[in-house]
Amino acid sequence: MPVDFPQILAEISHEIEPHRGGGQVAQYIPALAAIDPMKFGMCVALGDGQAFCLGDADERFSIQSISKVFTMSMALRKVGEALWDRVGREPSGSPFNSIVQLEMERGIPRNPLINAGAIVVSDLLVEEVGAAAMIEQLLQRLRLLSGDESVSVDHIVADSEAKAGSRNRALASFMESFGNLKNPVEETLAAYFSHCAISMSCRQLARAALFLAFDGRDPISGMTMVTSEACRRINAVMMSCGHYDNSGDFTYRIGLPGKSGVGGGILVIAPGHGSVCVWSPGLNKAGTSHVGSVALETLVKLTGWSVFV
Ligand code: GLN
Repeated sequence: MPVDFPQILAEISHEIEPHRGGGQVAQYIPALAAIDPMKFGMCVALGDGQAFCLGDADERFSIQSISKVFTMSMALRKVGEALWDRVGREPSGSPFNSIVQLEMERGIPRNPLINAGAIVVSDLLVEEVGAAAMIEQLLQRLRLLSGDESVSVDHIVADSEAKAGSRNRALASFMESFGNLKNPVEETLAAYFSHCAISMSCRQLARAALFLAFDGRDPISGMTMVTSEACRRINAVMMSCGHYDNSGDFTYRIGLPGKSGVGGGILVIAPGHGSVCVWSPGLNKAGTSHVGSVALETLVKLTGWSVFV
């Protein structure tokens, strides 16, 4: 039976209403602290090019850690399995910016989706080309995939994060001391802060991530973005590590590979079906959107989308 998406989105809208404004907007990046907590947008993108959207789905927000999914795919393309020499693929069970495991594990971050791991991924992508060119490559890719030439870095957010970036600077310096950073700390961090500060809408992000739902091949343009093997692995890492110390709970409730960002966005992949992005700025303690999680929970209940069927 075909899924009635307009009806499903109407039910989601009803379901989230009592939760609107719940959670806490990220305060540690000053440029994000002022975002209206009542914002809510959602977009479901399907392989045939259809997109079903709700609320503020066309408003751009700071994609933050959702960008780590795209940098991880670029790294797998660039160095393949050698990525795992410099970063693990185990859930951390720790907050996204935690430093404690790094010392015990000698500068090798647990996975590419925590801050330390994403900084190593940035470092790897910066090598040979420099931070500015690496960001340009990433933007080109996102523009191509989202079909929107205007996708760009919000420099106010990037500067704000760089100013408030002591914790990420500490992580990067610590890894440098173990020989797991090849470029100057500030060069690598410039790339990291910039990719976190990219602004996109739910519609653009859902569209851009479709290749992850279709074996690494963008179903609309037909372009192969990553091999089907790499695609499975990216989804596996998202499933086990996409929400830091909230990954188990997210998998229990939603059961699909996903990635949260402290801007309040969550990107979710429904393999074989499509890709979903939801945005609502209030976060739970682990930095995952509170209302966004409720919306996704309702979506999977109504569609039956799960990797476990
Ligand atoms: N740019 C943020 C940081 O480094 C990303 C964190 C997140 O979205 N979870 O702190």
